[in-house]
Amino acid sequence: MVPATRTVRIPNAYNHDTRFGDGNFVVIAGPCAVESHDQLLTAARGVALGGAAILRGGIHKMRTNPDSFQGLGTGAFSFINKVKQETKMPFISEITDPRQIGDLLSVVDIFQVGSRNMYNYSLLKELGQIQTPVLLKRGFSATVEEWLKAAEYITKAGNPNVILCERGIRTFETTTRNTLDLNSVAYIKAHTDFPIIIDPSHGTGRAELIKPLALAAAALGADGLIIEAHPEPAKSLSDAAQALSLEQFADVVENVDKVLHALGRKRLTLGKVENV
Ligand code: PEP
Ligand code: MN
Repeated sequence: MVPATRTVRIPNAYNHDTRFGDGNFVVIAGPCAVESHDQLLTAARGVALGGAAILRGGIHKMRTNPDSFQGLGTGAFSFINKVKQETKMPFISEITDPRQIGDLLSVVDIFQVGSRNMYNYSLLKELGQIQTPVLLKRGFSATVEEWLKAAEYITKAGNPNVILCERGIRTFETTTRNTLDLNSVAYIKAHTDFPIIIDPSHGTGRAELIKPLALAAAALGADGLIIEAHPEPAKSLSDAAQALSLEQFADVVENVDKVLHALGRKRLTLGKVENV
């Protein structure tokens, strides 16, 4: 028997009833990295208009190259909170070190654990000590079993509010940045009670491939998507090749809605359930 998905509520300051796992589709979108007040505000307004229910934006970036942009760090907090107030959007950002928990709690509504930190068990145990929801991305070399065990590090320490995110794995294939493992999503739906969303941005690394994979996410029964979108994709300080423009993002959601509609599913906008 297929287990019922656990519901993960996202507490937020705006009384939006935002939750993953109750059958509604939730779209998270925003830039890979927070770059400035203007960039984040424009992105937030654009993705909200396009159908996103939650804003994303990296503050602490885990870059392969130490010379690449590492994120603005705590200096960005005050304007991020302004953007949140201006747009009334819950916000998700990556935590890269357990020592950031206290600070980040003043700005995030969901902690993202990135692919490179899926195996960081001391970080996972710390996140198990609080109740703030955690989006646990799959390690790019992790088996599904290792990923589920990582999720248990959080739940067994006391925080049941875990959402999984399939973001692609490293295979022999180099045409795309990663290979998005849709099997894992079907498996997790069939065998576990965790909500699971798909990240077609990192899953493919290519802006032109995001729409078809987003449609697949809706058709597969995933609980949502996380997509990178930027007001000026070519100027993105990180992951420019996979950044959608705000117009392209709106087009993706418009098409995702057609799949959701065909399946009798609904999509969550800012705190509301939308008939699509
Ligand atoms: C990100 O979401 O910007 C990111 C770094 O993702 P991942 O950890 O999946 O590489
Ligand atoms: Mn990115």
